[in-house]
Amino acid sequence: MNKATGLNGWAGQRIKPDQITKYMDQGRDFINDGDIEAKLAAFSGEPEPAQVRAILAKSMAVKDLSLDEVAILIRVNDKKMLEEMRQTALALKIKIYDNRIVTFAPFYLGNYCVNRCAYCGFNNDNTAATRTVLDTDAIRREIAVLAGEIGHKRLIAVYGEHPKNDVDYVIESLKTIYSVKVKTKNGTGAIRRVNVNAPPFSIEDLKKINEAGIGTYQVFQETYHKETYAKMHPANTIKGDYNWRLYSMHRAMEAGIDDVGIGALFGLYDWRFELMSLVCHTQALEKRMGIGAHTISFPRVVPALNSVITPDWPYLVSDDDFKKIMMIIRLAVPYTGMIVTAREKAEIRNEAVLMGITQMDASSRIAVGGYSDCVTAQKEDKQQFILGDTRSLDELIRDLAQMGFITSFCTAGYRCGRTGKCIMDLLRSGTEGKFCKLNAVLTFQEWLDDFATEDTRRLAQPLIDREVAEIKAKNPQTLDIFMNYYERVKKGERDLYL
Ligand code: SF4
Repeated sequence: MNKATGLNGWAGQRIKPDQITKYMDQGRDFINDGDIEAKLAAFSGEPEPAQVRAILAKSMAVKDLSLDEVAILIRVNDKKMLEEMRQTALALKIKIYDNRIVTFAPFYLGNYCVNRCAYCGFNNDNTAATRTVLDTDAIRREIAVLAGEIGHKRLIAVYGEHPKNDVDYVIESLKTIYSVKVKTKNGTGAIRRVNVNAPPFSIEDLKKINEAGIGTYQVFQETYHKETYAKMHPANTIKGDYNWRLYSMHRAMEAGIDDVGIGALFGLYDWRFELMSLVCHTQALEKRMGIGAHTISFPRVVPALNSVITPDWPYLVSDDDFKKIMMIIRLAVPYTGMIVTAREKAEIRNEAVLMGITQMDASSRIAVGGYSDCVTAQKEDKQQFILGDTRSLDELIRDLAQMGFITSFCTAGYRCGRTGKCIMDLLRSGTEGKFCKLNAVLTFQEWLDDFATEDTRRLAQPLIDREVAEIKAKNPQTLDIFMNYYERVKKGERDLYL
């Protein structure tokens, strides 16, 4: 038994108390429940339009909002002002990220878990769940489908907290994922960037994972509300340690991982509190580590059989509140990537595109081994939740094209050193698009040539042609090299980027 953590065996070695306390301020963490509640209570009634518009103007100047300003936006219920907020959120997204949406696929490598979260079907007490962890051959089979048939270039690899998914497994699986190259119609398919959604690790383990080459490292706090956190995560589990999880991202940055992703499982507690806390989290990272969160995720919990989250759970988030959450995140942290996953229905995700989100998954399979095995893909006992949006990547791309958005498969930033503070500074200054638009067009053309159905190609090609014309008009410095790459891509060369 580890005396400091009260945990036995493998679990007892996981938590390093000194890698929590070193970041704390006189023994206090950065989520001050009383302060957040007080700020939420300080403002009542509908805010004055002039006050809201002043906040929106600050967002449009690409400045972070304060917690007080976020609390004011939370109070907006007037339909006209909500529409102004939505339009500003979208305008801000276009200003910073242009009309690009980045796509990825979730890739579950195992569903063993030592934790016992009250809301999760994978929890260790659930003996009905069929448990699996993918070996090297199984990973290869999955990547052959993801990169060779669907055409994904980015993954979020999801690992459970279990000795079978420990740091050595993470590193080996990353190497396997990157090693798979598949022949496609006109070129070669491969996964070029793996983001990792994994349990909290020590700084030592995170350094090893970073050396294996990851994109963004994600750990979601689930709920920032300490009392709710304690109810949902039993004390005698690793996840029961709130602060070990809370400081995951501080440790990741100290280990040299430039891009970190935070998130909350909305609906466990009052969404207003979680939203304020996400803003606190990114502010705390910026203050201590010099840079805020690279991405923010905001999955919604749904009621499930054998879960504490029943249909009458008091904190379930309505569609209207969910939309407000998305707008406010975009406005509060203008330069941060926002991910809305296929947990949500297609209608909500289409609306989310008009509220400033930047990343979506598609053709998603969340059963372990579900990409290469259609039978497994249907098995509910092998997946953590039920998908709301089952559109294929081709269908999503077609829908986005109809809305005027191009799909980016760009992974250049990670291979050119445009990560961490460098990419954040480019985003803040509005010059990130200089590279990203060009790479988005190159990678979108690649995907269309290799994977698109005729219908999608017919809809999307004119959009690319328009983008190329715009690049010709606006990017004289990089035009020659871009056109050289673009013509080579059309002839079948792959993975050219600026
Ligand atoms: Fe394990 Fe994650 Fe499920 Fe908790 S939410 S039981 S940590 S898989």
